[in-house]
Amino acid sequence: RSVSEEKLMVAVRVRPLRGDEGPRIVHVVSDKMLVLEEEADVRRDVLRQRRVNDKHYVYDRVFGEDSTQEDVYEVICAPLVGDTLNGIAGAIFAYGATGAGKTHTMSGLMSRALNHLFTSISESDDTDSFDVKLSYIEIYNENIRDLLNPGAGPLELRDEGGSGPPVVAGLSEVRALDASHVAELLARGDRSRTAEPTYANQHSSRGHALLSVSVSKTVSNGIQRGRLFLIDLAGSERAGLRARRLEGAHINRSLLALGNCIMALSGGARYVNYRDSKLTRLLREVLGGRCRTAMVAHVSPAATHRDTTRSTLHYAQRASAI
Ligand code: ADP
Ligand code: MG
Repeated sequence: RSVSEEKLMVAVRVRPLRGDEGPRIVHVVSDKMLVLEEEADVRRDVLRQRRVNDKHYVYDRVFGEDSTQEDVYEVICAPLVGDTLNGIAGAIFAYGATGAGKTHTMSGLMSRALNHLFTSISESDDTDSFDVKLSYIEIYNENIRDLLNPGAGPLELRDEGGSGPPVVAGLSEVRALDASHVAELLARGDRSRTAEPTYANQHSSRGHALLSVSVSKTVSNGIQRGRLFLIDLAGSERAGLRARRLEGAHINRSLLALGNCIMALSGGARYVNYRDSKLTRLLREVLGGRCRTAMVAHVSPAATHRDTTRSTLHYAQRASAI
């Protein structure tokens, strides 16, 4: 199955083990399967010589520790860039705990996607009929901030009536000229993301960053619009039940709401509540299926992160059922 043949393609990427992290407990078995080792003192299945509690997980795609940015781009993102040029919407989510590799993956996808887009446009016969616009926002504590205009106050999300997507009032949309112009815009945007220091000098991004690349093309009977969302979600450790109890008001409402939508969609529910958060309101069309989407869940291979890894793998498995 490829990303273009189903509603939500789910991939898992395992980042390289760092020297100071202790033993490896995530083992990639194939390009679709990995194993999570459970506690070391479990019983063994004597006949099959394997540890009874170890759990196998199967996804559309598993990227191991030696996967390259190019590998991930080719499988997950390149088909969606082709769609965007043809007037189709697409979205890619990076999910996982802080430090698991979300931003690493997304920055690789962003630069490659935009290079691919501009190269295709410049090689096309009707280069001048294309128009590429970017917007880049952060949703932090349910406030929308414009990362391309960080001085501005929080932006309002407005329903325009009808069934169309809600509009972010006053959001800057910047016409992108070429790949280096975009790189400059994104670097500027990234510097204004909300970060906080956590353990091990990691900077966790509490906010969700949404890059929207819209491509319009003038055709004989009007304008054809394609759009690609690249979404670097906030650290998923905050969405756990424990985090919810400990942090009270600081729960990440958007991440919980996204999880609830995924649960409802994967369970085949007739009614899915998108209204609970800014993130799900904005991405309603993307989640609801008129669009091709992929989720890349990120995990560390180290024993020290077993609990967050297990919960990320479960979440991704649930999402696979969509
Ligand atoms: P997150 O955004 O999920 O908090 P980061 O992308 O910032 O995590 O990754 C944490 C650290 O691990 C960074 O120093 C990053 O460069 C490194 N890292 C993550 N994924 C990979 C990878 N696939 N290959 C090499 N280094 C990685
Ligand atoms: Mg990050």
